[in-house]
Amino acid sequence: MDEKKLKFNSKTIHGGQRPDKAYGAVMPPIYQTSTFAQTTPGGHSGFEYSRSGNPTRTALENALASIENGNYGLAFASGLAAIDAVIKLLGPGDEVISTNDLYGGSYRLFKQVFEKYGIKFHFIGMQNASRIAEYINDNTKLIWIETPTNPMMNIIDIKAVATIAQENKVLLAVDNTFATPYLQTPLDLGADMVMHSATKYLGGHSDVVAGALVVKDKELADRLYFIQNASGAVCGPMDSFLVLRGIKTLHVRMQRHCENGEAVARYLAQHEKVEKVYWPGFEDHPNHEVAKGQMKGFGGMISFVTKGNNYGEAIKIVERLKVFTLAESLGGVESLAGHPASMTHASIPKEEREKSGVVDALIRLSVGIEDRRDLIADLEQAL
Ligand SMILES: *Cc1c(COP(=O)(O)O)cnc(C)c1O
Repeated sequence: MDEKKLKFNSKTIHGGQRPDKAYGAVMPPIYQTSTFAQTTPGGHSGFEYSRSGNPTRTALENALASIENGNYGLAFASGLAAIDAVIKLLGPGDEVISTNDLYGGSYRLFKQVFEKYGIKFHFIGMQNASRIAEYINDNTKLIWIETPTNPMMNIIDIKAVATIAQENKVLLAVDNTFATPYLQTPLDLGADMVMHSATKYLGGHSDVVAGALVVKDKELADRLYFIQNASGAVCGPMDSFLVLRGIKTLHVRMQRHCENGEAVARYLAQHEKVEKVYWPGFEDHPNHEVAKGQMKGFGGMISFVTKGNNYGEAIKIVERLKVFTLAESLGGVESLAGHPASMTHASIPKEEREKSGVVDALIRLSVGIEDRRDLIADLEQAL
C-alpha cells in the first residue's frame, strides 16, 4: 500500500500503521516498558530504552507524519514540550518573530523561560503578512505562527508567511492545534514544522495531555529527535495509544465539529442579545478569503460578545449553560464554554487584553459533536 497516495480519511486510520510484528495485533499494543532485552551488547530489535524510542510512540509518530503530509513525526509529553523542543534549536542572540495573538502558554514559555537564555521574541500583528519582513534581520531564525488564533479566531496567510520565511532563509513553524490536518496542512503550504497540542482535537476525548511535531526535512528531524531524546519530554506509551486511537476518528469528528460550529455561529449571529460573533466562516470576517483558500472548513471554535459588554452578565451566561461545560481546553467530543477575561486571560491587565479584543463579555465556545439542537437550546436558555 503506497500510503502517501491515500486520501486523508484513510490516512487517519492506516497512515504509518502496520499490524504488530509479535502477534499481528491490529491495534498497536501499549508497550508499557522502560527497556528492551538485548541478545548481545547493542543487539536489539530497534528499541533499547523508552525515552529514546518505544514501539507505541513510534506508531503514533508515524501516524502524525502521515496525516500532516510530512516525513517525520515526534510525540511529546504535552504541546508545550513540543514547542520547547523547537525553541531549543536556537541559541543566545537568535530572534523569533511571532504573533501578538498567541496561545497564552506559548507566550509564557517564550517570555518567561527562553528570553532569559538570550533569545529575543517579537510579537506582531500578522493579518497582513508583509509586516513580518520589517522585523527580519541577520539574527532571525524562526517565525512561529498559529491560525486560527485563540480566542479571536484571526486567520494568518500561511503561504504568504512561508514565502517571506523562505526568501530570508528563516524556519517557519505553525501551531496547527485549532485547525488540525483535516482542515489545513501547513507543510503543503511551505511551512518547515507543524506543531500540535494533541491534547485537543487529535486526542479528541479530553482524556490525555500530549504534543506533536511533524517535519519533512531529514536534517531538521534529526536535530529535533536529538533534543527530544536529550531533554526527555517524551509521550508515554499509554498516552501515545490514546492519541493514536483519537486520530482514527479525527475526520469524522472534525466534519461534525464544522457542521455544529456553523449552526451555532449562525444561531448566535441572529440573536438579539449578541453584539458580535468571531468565526472565520462569515463573509465579513476580515480574513475570510484567506481562510477559504487555506482551510477545508471553518472548525468548531467560536467566540462571541453580548450587547452592552457586561462582565457579570457574561459570567451568568456561562454559569447557566448545562450541555456546554464551563472549562478550559477545547477540541473534545463534548462542548465546552469559557470566559477568557476571568479564566485564560485573567492575568493580563484589562487594557492589554482589550487591545487584542478580549473584552469583558467575550465568551469562547468549543463546539462539540452532540446534537446541535441541544447545543442551540442550551445557548437559548442561557442567553
Ligand atoms: C493547548 C494549546 C497548547 C499547549 O498544549 P498543551 O498540550 O496544553 O501543553 C498550545 N497551542 C495551542 C493553540 C493550544 O490550544
